[in-house]
Amino acid sequence: MVRTLTARGSGLTATVSPRGASRLKNGHVWVYRSDIVSAEGAAPGSLVNVVDHRGQFLGSALYSSSSQIAIRLISREPVADFPALLRQRIGEAIAYRENVVSNTDAYRVIFSEADFLPGLIVDRYNDILSIQILTQAMDAESVRQTVISELTERLHPASIVERVDPRVRQLEELPPLDSGLRQGEKTSTKFTMNGILFHFDALEGQKTGAFLDQRENYAAAALYAHGEALDVFCYQGGFALHMAPRCSHVVGVDSSRPALEVADQNAALNRRDPNQPEIEWIEANAFDLLKDYASSGQRYDTVVLDPPAFAKSKRDLDAALRGYKELNLRALKMLRPGGVLVTCSCSYHVSQADFLQMLADAARDAHRTLRLAEVRGQGKDHPILLNVEETAYLKCVIATAS
Ligand code: SAH
Repeated sequence: MVRTLTARGSGLTATVSPRGASRLKNGHVWVYRSDIVSAEGAAPGSLVNVVDHRGQFLGSALYSSSSQIAIRLISREPVADFPALLRQRIGEAIAYRENVVSNTDAYRVIFSEADFLPGLIVDRYNDILSIQILTQAMDAESVRQTVISELTERLHPASIVERVDPRVRQLEELPPLDSGLRQGEKTSTKFTMNGILFHFDALEGQKTGAFLDQRENYAAAALYAHGEALDVFCYQGGFALHMAPRCSHVVGVDSSRPALEVADQNAALNRRDPNQPEIEWIEANAFDLLKDYASSGQRYDTVVLDPPAFAKSKRDLDAALRGYKELNLRALKMLRPGGVLVTCSCSYHVSQADFLQMLADAARDAHRTLRLAEVRGQGKDHPILLNVEETAYLKCVIATAS
C-alpha cells in the first residue's frame, strides 16, 4: 500500500532521543530540538513519522526546522491523509464548542494543541473569524486552504482575518506577512457574551481582539461584585461591564488609551438604564495608581486584578510572584471588610498552587482573612490537555476579605 504521509510529501522519519521518547510516552506532544537525534531531509513544516532510537514508532508530528520545539505530535497513529485529518479535527473542535459554549457568539473555536491542531488558533467573534498561525506546518499554503475552506463550510463567517505575530514568524523562519483579511471584506462587528455587547475590530487590539478565556470568569465575578468596584488592567472593560449592573460605581484602569476608548464605547452600548452610573475609565500605570490609592485611603468593595503575564519564562517566576504579591497586597489593603477580590494570572509558569500560596502570603501581610469563593481557570472553549501543562495557564480566584 502506498501512503501519502505528509503535507508536503516528504514521508520522512525523525528519530528522537530516549528523553524525547519518554516525554511523548508520558503524554506530552512536544519534543525539543536538543532531543532530536536525526531528521535529515525533513522539509520545514512537513509531517514526519517519529521513532525512538530503536526505531519504534511513536506518532506522527509536524516538524519545524527552526523552532526550539522541533516536533509537535499531531497523532499517535500513522497519518495517511493529512488534509482529511485536519478537516476531521476542525469538525471535532467545532462540535465540542456546540456542546459546552453557551450565552455567547464569541469563543475560541480551535485552541492549538488542546484541539490536537498544534500551531493553529481560531477565535470567533460573531460573524468574523480571527485566525493565528504559529508554525511552519500550519503556514503551508495547502494547509491554509484546507483550514479556511473547512471553517467556511462549517461556520459560514462573513469574513476571516489573520492576526500575525511577527515574532512568531521570525522564530519559525517564515517570511514576513501582514495581518489582514484572508476571506470576505468585513473587519468589524459586535459580539455578545453573557448578555453584554462588545465592539470588535478584527485588525486592532491585543491578542485576537478580546480576552475570550475570561468569559466565564466575567459572569462569575458579576455574581459577587457589589458596591464600589475597581477593575485594574481592564482593557476594553470585560470585567467592569459585567459588574456595572450590580455595583453603585465602577472604575476601570488601564495603561492603554486605545483600549479604554473601546471600553467607553462598549459601556455606551450597554447602558440601557440612564440611572445606572457611568463607568469611569482611568488611563494610568496600575502599579503607581494602586500605590497612591492604597496610601491615600481609597476604599472599594470589589477589586479585580487581571494583569498581563508577568512570567514569560521559568526564570522570571520569582520576580513574577513578587509582582503578583505586591499588586494583591495593595488591593487587599483597599478592600472594605466583606469586600470581594477577583485576582487573575495568565502566566502558565505560575501554577495554581504557586498563585494560591502568593495570595495567602499577601493576605497574611495585609492582616486580612481571605475566604475563597471560587478557584477558577480558563473558559471551557480553552480546554486543557492534562499532560501538556502549557495548555493550562489562566488562574482566576474570587475571594472575600474580612
Ligand atoms: N481584564 C482584561 C484583560 C487584561 S489584559 C479583560 O478581561 O479584557 C492586561 C491589560 O493590562 C492590557 O489591557 C494592558 O494594556 C494592561 N497593562 C499592561 N501593563 C499595565 C500597567 N503597568 N498599568 C496598567 N495597565 C497595564
